[in-house]
Amino acid sequence: MNLAGIIVAGGRGERHGGPPKQWRSVAGRRVADHAAAALRAGGIRRLVVVHHPDDAAEAAPLAGEGVSLVPGGATRARSVLAGLEALAPAPPDGVLIHDAARPCASAALVRRVAEALGTHEGAAPALPLTDALWRGDDAVEAALPRDGLWRAQTPQGFRFAPILAAHRAHGGEAADDVEVALRAGLRVAIVPGEEDNLKITRPGDLERAARILERRMEIRVGNGYDVHAFGPGGHVTLCGVRIPHDRGLVAHSDGDVGLHALTDALLGALGCGDIGQHFPPSDPRWKGEDSLTFLRHAKAMCDERDFSVEHCDITLVCEAPRIGAHVPAMRRTVADALGLGEGRVSIKATTSERLGFTGRGEGIAALATATLVRR
Ligand code: MG
Repeated sequence: MNLAGIIVAGGRGERHGGPPKQWRSVAGRRVADHAAAALRAGGIRRLVVVHHPDDAAEAAPLAGEGVSLVPGGATRARSVLAGLEALAPAPPDGVLIHDAARPCASAALVRRVAEALGTHEGAAPALPLTDALWRGDDAVEAALPRDGLWRAQTPQGFRFAPILAAHRAHGGEAADDVEVALRAGLRVAIVPGEEDNLKITRPGDLERAARILERRMEIRVGNGYDVHAFGPGGHVTLCGVRIPHDRGLVAHSDGDVGLHALTDALLGALGCGDIGQHFPPSDPRWKGEDSLTFLRHAKAMCDERDFSVEHCDITLVCEAPRIGAHVPAMRRTVADALGLGEGRVSIKATTSERLGFTGRGEGIAALATATLVRR
């Protein structure tokens, strides 16, 4: 089933005080960034983020491949309708609508809702009430039966055409999209929700969300190593920078050992094989290729798997050419390719004291390490 997601980020956060809660930071990213990442981790690649018209600048960093931004309306229901209308020209089969203020939804929860859409026109997560239920002010006036009562969560999933029709027909306010769906006569299945899938509402919720998200944080380190031999030529390319030299490097591509080692470090952290598997030297397409192509491919694989590259460290081993003067340009080139600040890219050079193949000037070796964090 072809699915899209809507992140509802139009709230102004009056209840919480301070800036709207979806733009506050928790565990290294903003609440809305976590909410969008949750849908992506569950396999939803096409997203619409509906934001308050005054929050275009806050929403802007969310835009990117597969993600579009839409200004919302005066009510939650109007905002969701704006998101649905943005999807309507190329309608998906189904849509998952998720509160930006729920940063802790798991990929498993998103997949549960998505899978239920295969057999239901609507599906939403909820938890049964376990506490007793009272009505009262400062004293209990009545104990209420809790049988059959649920605490509703998001993402709420629907077949696209019926939920679009339901929202178009619905004029007023609604607490959530299930309410809109029920008024249109849709049947919504309940799938198991998650205790951790809290909605940031009250003071203290951000701290609770931070504890949940930090517990899940996944850090990976990958390493890479590469060697190319010197051969005829008038330059070498190292970490994307062309350096005049009295010899070249023998390679199928441009022979950039630094970028080859770094590409392998990213692939290693992902557990996705090595550069030779993704770009076989036997394939004529890669003859003379700029090795930044390989690095960008590995970076895109990190993005697809929701890993961000946080840092890399490359060591080049050779007696010649001299590297030092080229390090600033190398750091800029690698930082650009990875979308990192230059402070997170380290490039070092060393000789091997005239020992071994690098010491005899037969070639250049490179080692690289990269640190990845799951978003
Ligand atoms: Mg190589």
